Amino acid sequence: MPNLCRRSFLAGAAAVAANMVVPGVSHPQAPPSGPFRLAALAYPNNALEPHIDARTMELHHDRHHGAAVAGLNAALKDHGQAAQMRLEQMLLKLGELPEEIRTAVRNNGGSHANHTMFWQIMGKDGGEPDSDLKRAIDRDFGSLAKLQDRFNAAGAGVFGSGWVFLTADGDGGLAIVTKPNQDTPLMDGRRAIMGNDVWEHAYYLNYQNRRPDYLKAWWNTVNWAAVAKLRG
Ligand code: MN
Repeated sequence: MPNLCRRSFLAGAAAVAANMVVPGVSHPQAPPSGPFRLAALAYPNNALEPHIDARTMELHHDRHHGAAVAGLNAALKDHGQAAQMRLEQMLLKLGELPEEIRTAVRNNGGSHANHTMFWQIMGKDGGEPDSDLKRAIDRDFGSLAKLQDRFNAAGAGVFGSGWVFLTADGDGGLAIVTKPNQDTPLMDGRRAIMGNDVWEHAYYLNYQNRRPDYLKAWWNTVNWAAVAKLRG
């Protein structure tokens, strides 16, 4: 499981304790005031051009993801017990959270988990799947091209806002899963090893209504080493 919550919690707590500015938040309106924080992108905003433009990356990461982190921290402000849970556990056990924060955690926590994965599995010159991942893709989809066709069709078929994911089960079996809004496979106890954001904010500046073109171009941004790492 990606350990994004514990690490974020510790980093956030340490930063608050040291009264320092957490890097990666370029807009001062969202100072870290809770267990979660917005990590900086590991690459410049323009690294994924021409497939994803720098302005889209800036708005998407700083504003959209940033707002989700702020919303998640705000929801947890008066719920110290929930605030100590790992994010994966919160999302898996939404029904056990206090009712007044359930929707906020679902939307903002789901967004934080999804976007954290999303930034991780993209990068400049991402190469090809390694031989082990390639074997699994061939076994479960026939070929990488067939996986891409099915993944793109699934992403194009999401009505309104949502995500298309590639998940891995405990035995390493791969599956394509779509989710509406900011829902995540973590809510089903499944692990996303990659995924594409098909909310309009992810592509509208460059692609407008042409979501299928974005889905197709997006594969050029995939960092396969990072996908293999999330597969574990
Ligand atoms: Mn997004």
